[in-house]
Amino acid sequence: MDLPCEEALLGFVGKRNTGNASGWRLGLRHPQLTASGTVSLGMTPMLKPHLLSHLEEFETRMPLRSMALLTDLDGTISPIAPHPQRAAVLPGCRTALHQLSRLLPLVACVSGRPAMAAAGMVDVPAMVYVGNHGLEHLAEGCLVTDQRALVLAPDLAAVASSVQPDLQDGETLEMKGVSLTLHFRTAPNPLRARNRLLSLLNQAIGERALRVREGRMVIEVLPEVPVDKGTATQGLLARSSPGGAVYLGDDRTDVSAFEAVHRWGREQRKPALCVAVASSEAPEALLSSADYVVAGPLEVCSFLNWTVRQMMGPGGGVVG
Ligand SMILES: [Mg+2]
Repeated sequence: MDLPCEEALLGFVGKRNTGNASGWRLGLRHPQLTASGTVSLGMTPMLKPHLLSHLEEFETRMPLRSMALLTDLDGTISPIAPHPQRAAVLPGCRTALHQLSRLLPLVACVSGRPAMAAAGMVDVPAMVYVGNHGLEHLAEGCLVTDQRALVLAPDLAAVASSVQPDLQDGETLEMKGVSLTLHFRTAPNPLRARNRLLSLLNQAIGERALRVREGRMVIEVLPEVPVDKGTATQGLLARSSPGGAVYLGDDRTDVSAFEAVHRWGREQRKPALCVAVASSEAPEALLSSADYVVAGPLEVCSFLNWTVRQMMGPGGGVVG
C-alpha cells in the first residue's frame, strides 16, 4: 500500500485484505520511502472484521431496537477537512441519525468540539451531545459544563496568548471554551510543526493545571480534570441503561470510549461493540481494540442507513 509520506509517518494504516474481502489487515511496520515519493508500509498479521461484510453477524450480536448508538464526529460521520470550519457531516449520516434518534433509547455524539458547535454541525436536535471530550453535556437544549474546567479557563487563555504570536504558516489556534486546539494539517511540514508546537506548549503551560493531548494533525490543551470520552460514555450508558451499545470513532481520543463501552458490556453482561474508522492516521490502539473496522465516513453512513432499514418495515413502519 502506498501512502503520502507525511500521512504514513504520522500514523497507522489499515488495509483491506484483498485475499479475504471480509477483513482488514492492520499494522505498522517500518515505513519505506519509494521513488514515487510515497511510503510503503508492511503489514502485521492482525485481522479485524470489516463491518459492512459482517452485518448479519453484527445483527446476531446486537439487539438493534434497544441499543445505544454513540458516535464521534470529525473523521467518523464527517470527513476530515483541511480546516475544521470547512468540515461537514455527511447528509446521509444526518438523515439516518435523525431517524435513529426516534427509534433508539440513546443516540449520542461524543466530540472534541464544543457541544454547541457539535450540535450545530450534526443538526439532529433529539440527539445528546458530549463536547470538549466530556467536559460539556448538551441534551434537550440544556448545556452543562464541568465546573472544574471553567475555573481553569483563565489559564487556558494565558496559554493561547503565549502561543498565538509564534504560530507559523498552516498552523491555527482554535479556542473552544474550556479547551483549545492547535491545528497543523496544512503546515508545509506537519511533523516539524507538531514538534515545534509541542515545545511551545510545554513552555507556555509550565506548572498550570493543564494537559496536552494529540489527535489527527491536532494538539489539544485541556484542563487537568479526570474526564475524557470514556468517562462521558460511561455516564451516558449508566443513565440510559440500553440493551446494548455501539460506539464509532476514528482517533486516539476514542480509545477511552472503546474501553468504557467494553467495560460496561462486561459489567452489565450486555453486547458492547466498537467500530474503528480506519485511516492512515488512525492510532494502533484504536484499531487493535475495535470489534469491527470501516474504511471511512462513507461506510459509517452505509452502516447507519442499514440500521435504519433493519428497523423499518417495507412501508416505513418500525419492525418488531
Ligand atoms: Mg474524530
